[in-house]
Amino acid sequence: MNIILLGPPGAGKGTQAERLIKQLNAVQISTGDIFRTNIKNNTPLGAKAKEYINKGQLVPDELTIDLVWDALDKVEDEKSVLLDGFPRNITQAEALDEGMQKRDKKIDKVININVPEDVIIERISGRRVNVSTGKVYHIKFNPPKVEGIDDETGEKLIQREDDTEKAVKQRLDVYNKQTSVLIDYYDKKGILVTIDGAKTPDEVFDQIKKSLEK
Ligand code: ADP
Ligand code: ADP
Repeated sequence: MNIILLGPPGAGKGTQAERLIKQLNAVQISTGDIFRTNIKNNTPLGAKAKEYINKGQLVPDELTIDLVWDALDKVEDEKSVLLDGFPRNITQAEALDEGMQKRDKKIDKVININVPEDVIIERISGRRVNVSTGKVYHIKFNPPKVEGIDDETGEKLIQREDDTEKAVKQRLDVYNKQTSVLIDYYDKKGILVTIDGAKTPDEVFDQIKKSLEK
């Protein structure tokens, strides 16, 4: 079972991905996490990606699509894949269709997490992350046991540089102009389910589990 998690920034894709990979014994491929790891490790890709990410723009497709194939080709055949943050525009979606076909694979479900804009802003402004593991917290909705410290590894949590008000506005604009068209793209293929993301993480996860049983 190969799944795409779709939704605006801050919808809860990463939060739900963490639960889903355990449930399905799947491998998560998060392009945002891959970019942040590259930035942290000062790689050439990280340096290029950072220019776009901090402005809230999409990293160019030619830098993004190959990353996904590199990650996907490392996954054992029998494992499910969970794509989080990819595809983000029509070009990426078409490249994904083509590349999956070449590999005799397919996307089985696209889970569209729907959240209103005021909720997004509140979630993103309180988000804290562990860049090494990608684990996500929220200062109010999902606080760590000790402020600023990851419960699991004891590492420091940070606020992402692109979680500023200005970059978030830009990211929402990018989502509305380039990513939201994918809802229709996958609906036409008959594999889209839309979930109400403005509930607790457990309630959202329940809806996702139910949609996968169908
Ligand atoms: P969020 O879910 O909060 O939008 P992500 O971690 O998915 O955050 O992405 C952070 C940033 O990384 C995006 O704003 C964009 O600059 C870049 N990025 C992530 N995935 C992609 C992608 N598929 N194509 C282009 N840029 C991407
Ligand atoms: P995305 O990957 O879509 O950008 P995240 O999973 O990083 O979203 O979630 C954004 C922020 O909102 C994080 O701080 C996370 O802890 C918090 N969050 C996620 N889901 C919920 C929810 N259902 N209710 C309240 N807060 C949530």
